[in-house]
Amino acid sequence: MQIIILGSGSPIPDPNRAGPATVLRTSAGDLLFDCGRGVLMRGAAAGVSAPGLRGLFLTHLHSDHITDLNDVITMRWAMTFAPTPLPIVGPVGTASVVASTETMLDLDIGYRLAHHEDLNWRPEEPVTEVTEGLVFEDGAVRITAAPTDHAPVHPTVGYRVEDGDKTVVIAGDTVPCAGLDALCQGADVLVHTVVRRDIIEALGVPRLIDVLDYHSTAQQAGETAARNGVGTLVLTHLVPAPQPNDEDEQPWLDQAAEQFSGPVIAARDLMTIEA
Ligand SMILES: [Zn+2]
Repeated sequence: MQIIILGSGSPIPDPNRAGPATVLRTSAGDLLFDCGRGVLMRGAAAGVSAPGLRGLFLTHLHSDHITDLNDVITMRWAMTFAPTPLPIVGPVGTASVVASTETMLDLDIGYRLAHHEDLNWRPEEPVTEVTEGLVFEDGAVRITAAPTDHAPVHPTVGYRVEDGDKTVVIAGDTVPCAGLDALCQGADVLVHTVVRRDIIEALGVPRLIDVLDYHSTAQQAGETAARNGVGTLVLTHLVPAPQPNDEDEQPWLDQAAEQFSGPVIAARDLMTIEA
């Protein structure tokens, strides 16, 4: 299984980091986890396309994780030559967000239907709202979900993806919690969103300080990885974002390493990691 980081950023626009999005290239096809700003542009650079997706999995409905949902829906529809529904899995609320997005796209859908004679179907996205347990199965690929803790954002879920004997966990945004621990047991790779408490407290901006109470620090991600016997820890959605170079990312790695003795990687856009 390959992990392709399409976006390692956060809500704050960054020239080097697109919004949160990760692809797992599995034996069942490309599975996209979250679809933040620039997801299909980064996908184009990585050989990942909307028509090629086997499914879209949302960890939660914060705007930065779904910024480009409309682009995924439109390109899935307009770039295929027969009806090709895109399965979307997410927490309760996902069906409402998808329906609202389609409403927003309604005029555009009408323009394209009127213009292209060979396009005579609307976009289709069968939505499955999930809380926990088995949420996807296709051949050797099994995905289970569990509730995470990103309060007051609720509900939120993380995903454990098994493909044969390899396991990758997509944590999404969360503080350490029992649901995440259950997903992480013995996983080969944990992809975890993180923030830097030391920098954010030093900056002293109230709206930024607010994010500390519902995100994990790099140390906490390290604790989760260590407690659950994870192989490799990948830090992503880095706030505030470091420059994508070894020197700026090193403190993040050092903080995680205070708690976790395995390999730690600071994600950069278009990085590919083998599970
Ligand atoms: Zn969030």
